Amino acid sequence: MIRLAIQKSGRLSEDSLNLIRECGISFVNSSLKLKTEATNFPLEILFLRDDDIPGYVADGVADIGIVGENVLVEEGKQELQVQKLGFSQCRLSIAVPKNTVYDDISGLEGKNIATSYPNLLQAYLSGEGVQAHIHTISGSVEIAPSIGLADAICDIVSSGSTLISNGLREVQTVFRSEAVLIAHPKLTEVKRQILNQLLFRIDAVRKAQK
Ligand code: ATP
Ligand code: ZN
Repeated sequence: MIRLAIQKSGRLSEDSLNLIRECGISFVNSSLKLKTEATNFPLEILFLRDDDIPGYVADGVADIGIVGENVLVEEGKQELQVQKLGFSQCRLSIAVPKNTVYDDISGLEGKNIATSYPNLLQAYLSGEGVQAHIHTISGSVEIAPSIGLADAICDIVSSGSTLISNGLREVQTVFRSEAVLIAHPKLTEVKRQILNQLLFRIDAVRKAQK
């Protein structure tokens, strides 16, 4: 039996569960339960906060998991990545209030930037040779400029409508992300074989979708 960690409730949840179902794996899913067992495949599913998934897989509490690359790389656990999954595509972008004069990245020098992704942002700014003050906040990042907490934000964007409704303009893409399958680096031989079966099915599902 292999243990898979997926997001309990959020933007990854439905597509993660759909992928498992499309692999022909059946299970009873109760929103109240923290885990469930598949009925026709040696798989147990754990439902967790997405931020906790890389850590659980690194520790081996879960054998495999599905998480956004943004969270995986922010937590410095990219070595766990096995396979991109093609859904939950989004980008981590820097945005400024729409009337701010902004020509290029050097305009962020010395500015206050609010984000939930300090490591990804710092790596990007360092690569661009820009020094800014990064303020780490855990949620509602997009309101930071309007309450005077920051000059700019760095947050996850998909359509861009949340930025627009908060009077912000996207100026720089920091990181592109999609959902990825991750695995504990030292799985037992039996679990490795189950993972390979699952990867084979995922591959078939993805080819059929193209
Ligand atoms: P949790 O309660 O599990 O911590 P969360 O609020 O941190 O959830 P969600 O907003 O559900 O997380 O997003 C989970 C992941 O979905 C993101 O890390 C990202 O990879 C992906 N994603 C795709 N599109 C979007 C979007 N428009 N906004 C935010 N995240 C998105
Ligand atoms: Zn989260």
